[in-house]
Amino acid sequence: MLFDSHMHTCFSTDSKMKMDEAVARGRELDIGITITEHMDIAYPEPMSFIFDVEKYFADYNTFRSDKVLLGIEIGMRSDCLEENCKLVEKYPFDYVIGSVHVIDNIDIYAAEFYHERDKKDVYEQYFKTMKQCVTCYDSIHSLGHIDYIARYARFKDPEVYYHEFKDYIDEVLLIVAQKGKALEINTRRLVTKEAVEIIMPIYKRFYEVGGRLVTIGSDAHHVKDIGRGLDVGFEIAERSKLDVVYFKDGKPQYQK
Ligand SMILES: [Zn+2]
Ligand SMILES: [Zn+2]
Repeated sequence: MLFDSHMHTCFSTDSKMKMDEAVARGRELDIGITITEHMDIAYPEPMSFIFDVEKYFADYNTFRSDKVLLGIEIGMRSDCLEENCKLVEKYPFDYVIGSVHVIDNIDIYAAEFYHERDKKDVYEQYFKTMKQCVTCYDSIHSLGHIDYIARYARFKDPEVYYHEFKDYIDEVLLIVAQKGKALEINTRRLVTKEAVEIIMPIYKRFYEVGGRLVTIGSDAHHVKDIGRGLDVGFEIAERSKLDVVYFKDGKPQYQK
């Protein structure tokens, strides 16, 4: 069973996707899906990017099956560690993605984050923050979209080149590997061969430092994007000798 392990329905602030449509699309594509709603505790804009977890499980429990799993994407910040851990322990999530969306209380999406800064300064801070987060967050299963910053950075060439930030990226990869966590292959940006080649060295390096597991997710916010790039994700995993898994009841399930 192939799984798309990252997508957002209407419990996420930035998605209007309906659960029944997501489930139908998964069935149509003959893939499993894991819902991973956004939970960014202490998000700079009050009441945004948080959701009612009780209602989530109550509303979606009837959809739950071997092919429809319920997870969460938490926005990791060192000042919200305890709240996030309590939340993750309290509810029966199949899968927990840990992501870095906000740094110094500014969303990486915001232009303000890049104001009068160069790429070196911003990206080093990004990977340093990621390192702090993966060091202190034990309750995640996978580190989400390591290349997230390249989606929104206001630089002429926002791509994350491994060789450019090698020392910083290595520290992140080593901790993820040592903890036995998975590294996500987020396929949202991997729409060209060039993008795939740019990101490849990160996954190859992950294997070299002892990493073994990857998850693959489209990060879909619309039904049409579900399952997008799964083939590309498998190609990256194969070329880096990494095993593709999805998580069910918090345990890795190997995919072929
Ligand atoms: Zn994210
Ligand atoms: Zn996401």
